Amino acid sequence: MSASENKKLLLHVCCAGCGAFVSLLLANDFDVTLYYYNSNIYPEDEYQRRIDEVKKIADNFKLSLIIGDYDHDAWLKKVKGRENDLEKGERCLICYRDRLENTACAAQSNNFNFFTSTLTVSPHKLASEIINIGNELAKEYGVKFLAQDFKKQDGFKKAVALSHKLGLYRQKYCGCEFSRG
Ligand code: SF4
Repeated sequence: MSASENKKLLLHVCCAGCGAFVSLLLANDFDVTLYYYNSNIYPEDEYQRRIDEVKKIADNFKLSLIIGDYDHDAWLKKVKGRENDLEKGERCLICYRDRLENTACAAQSNNFNFFTSTLTVSPHKLASEIINIGNELAKEYGVKFLAQDFKKQDGFKKAVALSHKLGLYRQKYCGCEFSRG
């Protein structure tokens, strides 16, 4: 078995800009496949717009892309009662877990060695909670979690700059209807 066969990593991407930045960052150490599962995003045309941008980076960087199912109604049931929480509150913790668990499950089913997420790029998200959830899921699904806070060393600024350079769409809100303001 070659070294790269042990370094297959499934990268959950929240959006194209963060996906481009993190996949470049990891390219030397891992064999990266992009994974798009974001049932939190509303409305559906916004979801589709973000996927279309992720497809562009998959094409540009010659990366494989797996697209998970989109079920916003099921996502709404998971966060029921938490609609009025502020960003970084309990609703967001449920949302992180939903996306990370779906990624861990896909990583297990497709024989990846690692999984991780671009969610830690954003300064509006709780990296420590994302890492705790990822580590829990790693035990549950038997796939290693790459626990990395990608916003460190100006990660967020670099992701924004890369998005501009590549001409990628940058969304104006996190994703769900409750974050639209
Ligand atoms: S604000 Fe963002 S992280 Fe929080 S629940 Fe909505 S989509 Fe998920």
